[in-house]
Amino acid sequence: MKAVPFDYVRARSVAEACELLRRDGNDAKLIAGGQSLVPMMAMRLARPARLIDINGIAALKLITLDANAARIGACARQCDVERDAALAALVPLLKRALAWVGHVQTRNRGTVGGSLAHADPAAELPLVAQVLGASVVLRSTAGARKLSAAEFFTGPLTTAIEPQECLEGISWPAWPERRTGCAFTEVSRRHGDFAIVAAAAQIALDEDGKCVRASLGLAGGSIPLAFPQIAARLAGTRVDDNVVAGVAHDAAAAIDPGSDLHASADFRRHLAEVLAARVLRAACDEARARP
Ligand SMILES: Cc1cc2nc3c(=O)[nH]c(=O)nc-3n(C[C@H](O)[C@H](O)[C@H](O)COP(=O)(O)OP(=O)(O)OC[C@H]3O[C@@H](n4cnc5c(N)ncnc54)[C@H](O)[C@@H]3O)c2cc1C
Repeated sequence: MKAVPFDYVRARSVAEACELLRRDGNDAKLIAGGQSLVPMMAMRLARPARLIDINGIAALKLITLDANAARIGACARQCDVERDAALAALVPLLKRALAWVGHVQTRNRGTVGGSLAHADPAAELPLVAQVLGASVVLRSTAGARKLSAAEFFTGPLTTAIEPQECLEGISWPAWPERRTGCAFTEVSRRHGDFAIVAAAAQIALDEDGKCVRASLGLAGGSIPLAFPQIAARLAGTRVDDNVVAGVAHDAAAAIDPGSDLHASADFRRHLAEVLAARVLRAACDEARARP
């Protein structure tokens, strides 16, 4: 199918994009990589009267790093984030997750902000945003507001972005502990498909091998979730198999998977428990291997 007719305009700055959104945000959509929006338009699941192209806005593509965080402009391409060695050293979970996002071709066009704004419940980057406690900046002509990932994702394909707002950038916290490890895994029908269930974890150990802090998240329900209270039970332990099994079990019990032609809800929950345990062990092994 073809999209319904639409107008197209290129914004040259964030301010211009916000002004265009102020005028007709209810009928318009920003277009970034187009890897989700264009198929949605072709299937007529989205029918924007106007596309506002933000690809020419250099400020939205900046990646800046400091000791505390990586700040990624919303329109930075997924492939540029994936290939940035300094970024991978600072926030390694992002690169691990990106390897599972679609295909090289979709990552060449798709943007980090587009993935978060689209908010597919099975998408990898929203899960990483939850696990790391990322924050987003939303801008409109009225100013900017900052939200945590937990506030930003409100439901399947739904976020806190108002029609007049542009997602400007995302801040991904870096963990300072030297002995930190992370892991990401998922099960999908074919490589490059959206996950049936995905799991991500990050763990920091002290010099004695005890867990200082841990974060765990799962995608497989209606929204990607992190479980800070459940993961906190790892702190102070040596992350042995017993404690991992308990944490993985309780995290999997906290998601709300549905059934579809790919998998039943029961299978998804079982998978979530298995994958949660797997990423916790892998993250811990990586942290232990750090000199
Ligand atoms: C074959 C195929 C396989 C894929 N597999 C996966 C996969 O396994 N995992 C996965 O996560 N994704 C997958 N994707 C989707 C891909 O990752 C997209 O890049 C991503 O979902 C959207 O990013 P985009 O830059 O293309 O956004 P677009 O398609 O341009 O936009 C998506 C939505 O976000 C809005 N938007 C974009 N940027 C902003 C902004 N700055 N502020 C506010 N709103 C904004 C748009 O208005 C639109 O509603 C796949 C896509 C294809 C075509």
